[in-house]
Amino acid sequence: MNNQKLLEEVKHSFLIKRARAEEENAAFISSMCQNEEFDKLYSAYNKKNLAYLRSKFAGENLQLKAEVDVLKQKLQNFLTENNIDANKLEPQYECPICNDTGIANGKMCSCLLSALNSKKSVIMSGNKKFKSFDECDDSIMTEQDFKTRDLLKTWCEKYPNSTKLNINIFGASGAGKTFMLECMANALVKAGHAVCFKTAFDVNELARLYHIGKNFDFSLCLNAEVLFIDDLGSEPIIKNVTKEYLYNLINTRQANNRPTIISSNLDLNNLLDRYDERIFSRLVNKKLSININLTSPDKRLI
Ligand SMILES: [Zn+2]
Repeated sequence: MNNQKLLEEVKHSFLIKRARAEEENAAFISSMCQNEEFDKLYSAYNKKNLAYLRSKFAGENLQLKAEVDVLKQKLQNFLTENNIDANKLEPQYECPICNDTGIANGKMCSCLLSALNSKKSVIMSGNKKFKSFDECDDSIMTEQDFKTRDLLKTWCEKYPNSTKLNINIFGASGAGKTFMLECMANALVKAGHAVCFKTAFDVNELARLYHIGKNFDFSLCLNAEVLFIDDLGSEPIIKNVTKEYLYNLINTRQANNRPTIISSNLDLNNLLDRYDERIFSRLVNKKLSININLTSPDKRLI
């Protein structure tokens, strides 16, 4: 799905969200107007407010504005005295910055960008449900796991101002690498970023299809804001594809300052053996990457 179509869809969902808030507000006001005192106050407020809004075309009438505010305060007091949330006088929009219009100060509001990125992440990661840092089972975590979790959590909190661009997590099967990657993806999506989560097998397959001109989704991996590659080393080596496209992927992403987060069962020696010096030095470059070696025992056996 292209970006424009995605944006249209998200904007449409905002229209619905806004209409729902306004409908709920209208229903609330109409039920409150069953009460004579409220009804009287509300009609006076409504009339005055309309007069004020009309006056705005000819320059703001501050006297009318003050009168509107007094009536509004009376209505709010009435609600509070009856143990009803005074905010309900107005439609309850989710975003107080743009009132769910998606536009603030003539620009895209951060809530719209966040909703758009969340939708992109779902599409790019194939509807994957990510685990979250809150789901860490402290009882099976080693001291190193706690340190790793804190480091990764901080990286996500600071993103895009994190100290290093990339993260590689090495370790044997069951050490919790995929879990940590998913927690990071989850935290980043929640903070409004767009992530693409793939296994190395998937990335390799996309590269193969791209290579033979059958599918161009490999560019998703190239251009994703944050790319996760799970289980690097588990993919088959395809001649003229695997190493070439992996190098291109890592190189292009680094040049564009886009983070790549990788997990692998391989240790550094095996990584060097399997790929080559060019890929290896790009991947584990200490200036750009945090390299973590998870040595904890297989948690699936605990
Ligand atoms: Zn907003």
